[in-house]
Order: sequence, then C-alpha cells, then structure tokens
Amino acid sequence: MRSVNLKKVFEKSRKFSTTLTLKHSELDLPNDIMDSGESFSAQITIYKKGAFYEATISVIGKVLLECSRCLSVFKKELDLKETLSLRPYPKTYRENLKIDDLAVSFIEDEENFDLINLVREQIILSIPTRRICSSESCQLPISSEGFSLRSLYEKAN
Ligand SMILES: [Zn+2]
Repeated sequence: MRSVNLKKVFEKSRKFSTTLTLKHSELDLPNDIMDSGESFSAQITIYKKGAFYEATISVIGKVLLECSRCLSVFKKELDLKETLSLRPYPKTYRENLKIDDLAVSFIEDEENFDLINLVREQIILSIPTRRICSSESCQLPISSEGFSLRSLYEKAN
C-alpha cells in the first residue's frame, strides 16, 4: 500500500494502522543516503484529531553514509519514532504561525495520502548534516596538495 484515502478510512473507523517493508530504491532518498542492501520496516498509525490527523511513525533500517571527517563509508542504524500532526497546507501565512508541541507534516492530498513520502521525510530528518563514523581510525585525510585538512577543519569549527 503506497497511499491511503484518509477521508474514506475515517468515515468508518477511528484509527488507521499499517506496516510497510520498503526497499531503499522505493524510498527515492537523496544520493548521499546510500543503500545498505537491507529493507526498511515502517509502522504507521494515524488517528483523526478534530480537523487534523495525528500520526505515529516508527522506522527501523540501515543506511550507508559518508563520514564528514574521514570520508569513509559507514553503516548507520536507524530506529526512529515520531509523532506528527498531519495537516492540510495552510491557506494563509497566519495559519502557519500556529505552532504547538507536535512536529507538523503537511498533507498534499487527503484522499491520496502518500505513506512512502511520510517515511522518506522521517528518514531524511533523522540523518544529521554532520555525519561522523565511530571508527577508531577516523581522522581527517591529508590532502594531496600537502596541507592538512585538519587545520582547515578545526578553523571552520
Ligand atoms: Zn570517520
């Protein structure tokens, strides 16, 4: 199941729940989040909360990342759990300013809600911009021009 008609589901029930097993290639992730060869497992539960929906999503899986320091590729295990408020895109800027405790994800099409896109968003948000491997030999590489990247790196941080 790739997408769900939320309007239809909640005419008859109060809760929607599904488990998805997704291959890396099905998620269309950015190129720097690489395929570990293993599938992701996602569990999504959605409740109706007034005019909005509330979703609990958990994702388990592995990705390959390039270490920001030593540039080697390492495996990162993902084990995410997030509760989100699902809302239609705000019609005015003002609406957009009403922020509460929950993270918000916007729904493009209530009758064709893309579950895979929801999983993709959560995976991308969970990956830090600065990715450091846990290898003991993790060090800045020495560049071929002869100067140490470490000094540049330390200046920049
Ligand atoms: Zn490293």
